[in-house]
Amino acid sequence: MRGVAILGSTGSIGASALAVIARHPERFRVFALSGHSRLDVLIEQSRQFRPAAVVVPDAAAAQQIAARIPAATRVLVGTSGLEEIAADDRADTVVAAIVGAAGLLPSLAAARAGKRLLLANKEALVMAGRLFMAAVAAGGATLLPLDSEHNAIFQCLPERARERAGVCRLVLSGSGGPFRTLAPERFATVTPEQACAHPTWRMGRKISVDSATMMNKGLELIEACWLFGVGEERIDIVIHPQSIVHSLVEYADGSVLAQLGNPDMRTPIAHALAWPERIDSGVARLNLAEIARLEFAAPDPQRFPALRLARAAAAAGGDVPAALNAANEEAVAAFLAGALPFTGIAAVVERVLERWSAAEPHSVEAVQASDARARRLAVAAIRRYAVED
Ligand code: NDP
Ligand code: MG
Repeated sequence: MRGVAILGSTGSIGASALAVIARHPERFRVFALSGHSRLDVLIEQSRQFRPAAVVVPDAAAAQQIAARIPAATRVLVGTSGLEEIAADDRADTVVAAIVGAAGLLPSLAAARAGKRLLLANKEALVMAGRLFMAAVAAGGATLLPLDSEHNAIFQCLPERARERAGVCRLVLSGSGGPFRTLAPERFATVTPEQACAHPTWRMGRKISVDSATMMNKGLELIEACWLFGVGEERIDIVIHPQSIVHSLVEYADGSVLAQLGNPDMRTPIAHALAWPERIDSGVARLNLAEIARLEFAAPDPQRFPALRLARAAAAAGGDVPAALNAANEEAVAAFLAGALPFTGIAAVVERVLERWSAAEPHSVEAVQASDARARRLAVAAIRRYAVED
């Protein structure tokens, strides 16, 4: 019986993880859950799964839920509460499903504590890849990617490190998002609702916007560099609108291995929860005859400038990916709030990176300082963008 802590259980990944766990009560017990703004969802989840602990952002939220959750469930607050459940002995598996930089410290705590760490929170790895991978190694954690592309690559790579010499390239596939074929002159006026209406995946709003700009694929490029220990020059990106081929690994002999499946996050979640075993995820079987066509195309660099910015950040290294991520988080939040046009997202990230003097962050505090500095530059760039463009 595995004890599972889900950081960010009230979100899209969190809900999918609970849906898989609910199918296997003999294998998994929910030890802890966490929510941020959707407290009603957290209350409902607590009543269904009866965790030993839940984490909410602050004392006011704790007071709000106290009388409405099982009496045996302890309520913890804030980042320290998240770090505590991530490292608790009663959880051997931690699902890191908080969105954005807020997930960094709790994800790191799980790595240091040597957990089976199921990572969806790609931003943590983008921000602090070197420190993160060092924490995984030092803590003896087992890092299992939940991001569908990285989970696919994980499944297609040879298990033993010495056999990896025959791997020449990784290929990340991406749907191209809702604006893959939109006329370029219409990009400036797209709304948050249009940007969040992803053609193949149902996800939280931040990653949905990232998919529309393809910054998501850029963040995934950096994520793949750290997870699989390869340089960005050995990772290709291909557009695949059907989202059936989740990513590919190319070998020296010309063989290309791919993982296929319906676009449903319960598949990679079930894979990582049970790994190396396989369990039922509840996902419908893939019917290739019904799908009939699988298409592929190279991404258009004019349409998706975020890809170029992320690749440059991956190549530069140091704290440049942290700056890219922080500027992107601020720009996406401004876009969702109606304070920045869609085309301003990549423009703001580019302005921040143009002003960036890179350094190697040797501590989490240094990463957080770079993150804060990039956010200040981004906020200023967002204000200027509103005036000038
Ligand atoms: P959601 O927005 O649906 O969920 C995010 C979760 O994080 C929620 O539980 C939310 O709480 C919580 N949260 C938000 N802000 C904070 C904060 N400041 N402190 C603590 N908790 C916070 O996002 P997704 O589930 O879509 O994505 C989660 C992560 O997984 C992201 O990093 C994303 O890139 C990655 N991912 C997602 C995929 C998907 O299909 N959704 C696919 C691949 C990767 P609340 O809702 O209560 O406010
Ligand atoms: Mg992905």
